[in-house]
Amino acid sequence: MTETIKYYSTNRHLDQVSGIIPFREMVSFREALMMGQAPDGGLFMPEIIPALPIEAFKALKGMPYTEAATLVAQAFLTGEIDGQMLRRIIDDAYNYDVPLENVFARKYIMRLDQGPTASFKDFAARLMARLMSALRDPGRRLNVLVATSGDTGSAVGEAFKGVTGIDVTILYPRGEVSGRQKKQLDTIGRNVRAVSVDGKFDDCQDLVKQAFSDPELGSFNLTSANSINFGRILPQIVYYVWAWAQLSRDGDPAVFSVPSGNFGDALGCEYARRMGLPVEKLIMPTNENDEFPRFLETGIYEKVSPSQACLSNAMNVGHPSNLARFFDLYGGTVDRTGIVHRQPDLDEMRKNIYSVSISDRETKKTIKRIYDQYRVLLEPHGAVGWRGLEVYLDLYGDKSLCISLETAHPAKFPDEIRELLGIDPDLPQGMKDIDERSGAPVFLSADYGELRKYLQECLRITD
Ligand SMILES: *Cc1c(COP(=O)(O)O)cnc(C)c1O
Repeated sequence: MTETIKYYSTNRHLDQVSGIIPFREMVSFREALMMGQAPDGGLFMPEIIPALPIEAFKALKGMPYTEAATLVAQAFLTGEIDGQMLRRIIDDAYNYDVPLENVFARKYIMRLDQGPTASFKDFAARLMARLMSALRDPGRRLNVLVATSGDTGSAVGEAFKGVTGIDVTILYPRGEVSGRQKKQLDTIGRNVRAVSVDGKFDDCQDLVKQAFSDPELGSFNLTSANSINFGRILPQIVYYVWAWAQLSRDGDPAVFSVPSGNFGDALGCEYARRMGLPVEKLIMPTNENDEFPRFLETGIYEKVSPSQACLSNAMNVGHPSNLARFFDLYGGTVDRTGIVHRQPDLDEMRKNIYSVSISDRETKKTIKRIYDQYRVLLEPHGAVGWRGLEVYLDLYGDKSLCISLETAHPAKFPDEIRELLGIDPDLPQGMKDIDERSGAPVFLSADYGELRKYLQECLRITD
């Protein structure tokens, strides 16, 4: 029997903290995937990060993306899932391109925007959905329940669409999603249902929380598919490995720049380096929510509260949820509220990571300048990433191979792009199709009794 990797909670050391009973058990990947979060509110971490020889990474040159995904997933999941099954899942999840666009010299943009919702979140959500389907109790349905204020819900819904043995219910606030987002959520169809709630996003979140703690719904096998699930981190290791293999010469290291909000994307790069990938520096530019760059500079952590509303809206995070994982990897502990219980090794962190805050003004200037100079089209998140790379190179001199991530498709920001560049970027095909789709949501009030009744009538327990 192969040794499998076990998972622990980032809160396991929090002995003297009121309200937290530290979870000291280890769980399997399957359990971490189904539980989402540890019972003490901590995040699951693999106790061992599997290392691979550089030859294994080099061998991916010229290979399809799915080969890199298989290599990384197998390293983590051996003994947890059948190898053939894993390969099938990966082939099914990654049926779209991952363009590497040259800007100048050996500076590249990696476009992670070709999935069904044109966001890098498709990469994680699609693999996690299929892993959940494969690893659930045979014959027993899983019911995913999520509250969304927009983009996350559609990424999750699209990712689970048509996946065997899982039904998805997405709650969104009637008055708070844009027309386009509403259309996107209402029309996913198949095993994915949209519920339009007469209330605010907070009401939707409350309803979902109540459902999870309701014993009367216990038999429905509810799960959250939330963004802190380790099942969503694992797939985000892959594109760093794949991009490096395509672009490295003689195994030379790469600098990666990752526009960062909740730090899940950047965490994938941190794990890739720890698996043995030659990463010279991980750059984590943020928008005006600058808690992390300030921490790296001063050693003092102060979350930004309330978070600042910036153009790169998916990164408007004042206390990144995956910061707890970064701290843990560097020997520190920070809790959910942003209190540091043990300081991480700052010197080591600074050696591997650079972070800088990019203002909205700089973000706009970058979109315009890069388009004018190179005809390379960026949206606000990708522009924060690219500008962060430029700042780093200005400070530390040229590094040969640099890869900056574009995390959403520019067509998702038509107003900004039109204002800055005077053009209308074409939507990717998957998103154009949305206008032709039809479907209607279920309408509910923000009353929990109503939601419970709806779930009891509609959810299934067995296949
Ligand atoms: C979620 C998101 C990010 C931030 O990623 P994190 O993993 O939260 O750091 C960046 N860009 C886009 C478009 C996103 O949707």
